[in-house]
Amino acid sequence: MVKDNRILVIGGGIGGLSAAIGLHQKGFDVDVVELSTDWRVYHVGIIVQANFVRALAALDLGDEAVAAGFPYKGWKFLDMAGEEIAELPGDSTVTAPYPADLGLTRPALHKVLTGKVKALGIPVRLGVTFESIEDRGDGVDVRFTDGTSCRYDLVIGADGAYSRTRNIVFPHAPRPSYTGQGVWRYNVPRPRDLEWFHLYMHDDGHTAGYCPLTQDTMYIMTVTEEPGNPHFPPESLADEMRKRLAGFGGLLGELAKRITEPELVVYRPLEVCMLPSPWYKGRILLIGDAAHSATPHLGQGAAMAIEDSVALADELSRDEAPLADKLARFMTRRFERANLVGQMSIKLGEWQMNPASAEQSQAEVTAQMRAKLLEPI
Ligand SMILES: Cc1cc2nc3c(=O)[nH]c(=O)nc-3n(C[C@H](O)[C@H](O)[C@H](O)COP(=O)(O)OP(=O)(O)OC[C@H]3O[C@@H](n4cnc5c(N)ncnc54)[C@H](O)[C@@H]3O)c2cc1C
Repeated sequence: MVKDNRILVIGGGIGGLSAAIGLHQKGFDVDVVELSTDWRVYHVGIIVQANFVRALAALDLGDEAVAAGFPYKGWKFLDMAGEEIAELPGDSTVTAPYPADLGLTRPALHKVLTGKVKALGIPVRLGVTFESIEDRGDGVDVRFTDGTSCRYDLVIGADGAYSRTRNIVFPHAPRPSYTGQGVWRYNVPRPRDLEWFHLYMHDDGHTAGYCPLTQDTMYIMTVTEEPGNPHFPPESLADEMRKRLAGFGGLLGELAKRITEPELVVYRPLEVCMLPSPWYKGRILLIGDAAHSATPHLGQGAAMAIEDSVALADELSRDEAPLADKLARFMTRRFERANLVGQMSIKLGEWQMNPASAEQSQAEVTAQMRAKLLEPI
């Protein structure tokens, strides 16, 4: 049996499920609790890149991930009239035989991860969370909301940006804070010849674009400055999104006219919460958005959560070192990389809101980060 074998994962999202899969594959005995009772995710798209595909392949999920998404060819940057400024083709050197870039719906990714968890027989209790967590030094005693209790060698908080586990371990950590921007998304049918993620740059700094998600669907998105973090009446959302796409030409100008159903618009204010190192105390560790939730400007949140899981499973199973040493090694592998992604994402948002302060274009930063993230984790 591997050392420090009993592990609890709090949260059955992208980070929690990938951690449960990776740890189970290395021989750990993993329990998962997930607060939501129906375990459904909302129907929007995410864009992911080579390091996401590589991390899922490391969990033996490469075939399923690629089959669930649309392998788009890379990122094209355009001016607001729709003229191309730069092109960043996907680089599959670290993903071959798989493609580098994927568009996915969240439910499709969730199905890939939950399918594997079920196939491996990892126990997941839905509608359950912790009542209390006590780190006793030689183990962590957890009482659950279903009345049960159990002792674990390690507890992993993968409970997202509003992590309750974080509140327990780091009560003085910063809370998620609004960045001043929001993101608007809307799904439409994919034109047959659309194979790239297109990102248009407005002269005022805000961006908008579209990306294929499946053979049949794509999504339109725009990231805009929203002073004061306003609430929009649900019935106004289609009008509000179209307003923010006014002024864009090219295909985007045409696609904007198709945004007509307010209930199909998904609007989210952008919030960030980046923890300093370390993300653990004693036998309780945070991963994914619980430790580093940034903005989606680089399309890297899901990849960072899954990379956390792959690196953690590696470090915990590598040797017989004390748990504290393994967690310290995990931080060495993860902090700088996840922090760089977070800080650059936040900076891109700040530069969009204040273009005069921009030190680099979004295309330049994206090119540098895409190359950097091909480095081994
Ligand atoms: C608007 C927006 C757009 C984004 N677009 C992209 C993109 O294009 N590409 C990309 O890679 N990333 C994107 N991201 C980021 C990505 O969604 C996150 O980084 C990723 O979901 C993090 O996974 P996670 O498992 O850490 O957290 P989550 O996905 O939030 O999962 C947390 C899970 O924990 C559960 N939970 C919460 N509290 C408890 C509790 N107390 N007990 C038990 N369970 C609990 C929740 O129900 C949930 O299932 C985007 C994020 C936002 C907000």
